[in-house]
Amino acid sequence: MGDKMKTVIMGAGAMGSLFGGLLTLSGEDVWLVDIWKENIDAMRSKGLKVEDRGKIEIIPVKATTKVSSAGTADVVLFFVKTYHTEKAVSDVLVLQKENTVFLTLQNGLGNEEAICKQVDRRKVVLGVTGQGATLLGPGHIRHAGWGKTYVGELDEKITDRVTQIAQVFRKAGIETEVSSHVHDLVWEKLLVNVGINALAALTGLKNGQLLDYPETVRLMEALVSEAVEVARRKEIQIDENPMNRVKAVIEATRENRCSMGQDLDYKRRTEINAINGAVVKEAERFGILVPYNQMITDLIKVIEKRF
Ligand code: NAD
Repeated sequence: MGDKMKTVIMGAGAMGSLFGGLLTLSGEDVWLVDIWKENIDAMRSKGLKVEDRGKIEIIPVKATTKVSSAGTADVVLFFVKTYHTEKAVSDVLVLQKENTVFLTLQNGLGNEEAICKQVDRRKVVLGVTGQGATLLGPGHIRHAGWGKTYVGELDEKITDRVTQIAQVFRKAGIETEVSSHVHDLVWEKLLVNVGINALAALTGLKNGQLLDYPETVRLMEALVSEAVEVARRKEIQIDENPMNRVKAVIEATRENRCSMGQDLDYKRRTEINAINGAVVKEAERFGILVPYNQMITDLIKVIEKRF
């Protein structure tokens, strides 16, 4: 990639703006791309407004609705919702160079496949992030989580390019490590989302309240154990007791209304297909039944259809 790394971020919502803002502040060459005109107009005219633990920072970012105006990219970072990944990939192909890296830090399953459908898989890098952000309005976000970020090659090799991406992120204050087992980490995060998101969304509960009722604890355990069974069939390495991890995340985010919950509250489409729905799809390949995940996916989909 050379010394300088030019990054184009597809999706300048909560997370894209967070990464874009932090990278810009650290002196990186970054473009934020979004199809939401009002958002981009606000960033261009007033700068990106980031609230972080009581402080407000206005960051002059480069932002556009027209992908081609960003020139070419060393790294394309996807932060659209999972159901928009395929379209965002086809939009961004115009920026591709021979050595462009396509990195996804989105949640759930299916992003890797959506990118690899249109891009040579040797150019694709995967990751997960424990960073969190909330969109407060056009050009305005709140930094809401500071967990670790991991990036890794699909073939699990440690390469110069992933090492460089991790370095650039760290320089921007985003704690990042290179992983040689990134698929395991994607599943680790998936199991947490499988246990929390749809269940909190349907019950109207905040994360912490899921542990207050024996019924939600039982449902959570059933959802997660079905997903663990699928992960084992796929030879994914997971914790001895993944429920402990789900419960630890719940404790750490007790007061949060999860993103899928907010999506239902505001009558927006959810990422169910990439979370519980993805467990159902993977289970079908192995001929195993995952009735709890099937049911919760169907329930969310019916609610979405009525928006
Ligand atoms: P968001 O809805 O705030 O932002 C997504 C943005 O993508 C929107 O502004 C939308 O207009 C834009 N977009 C849609 N199609 C596009 C296209 N073709 N080209 C350019 N932009 C396009 O979503 P978010 O909360 O930032 O989440 C993004 C991803 O990151 C999701 O997969 C989510 O699960 C994951 N994630 C979110 C958090 C969080 O705290 N918000 C944390 C970790 C991971």
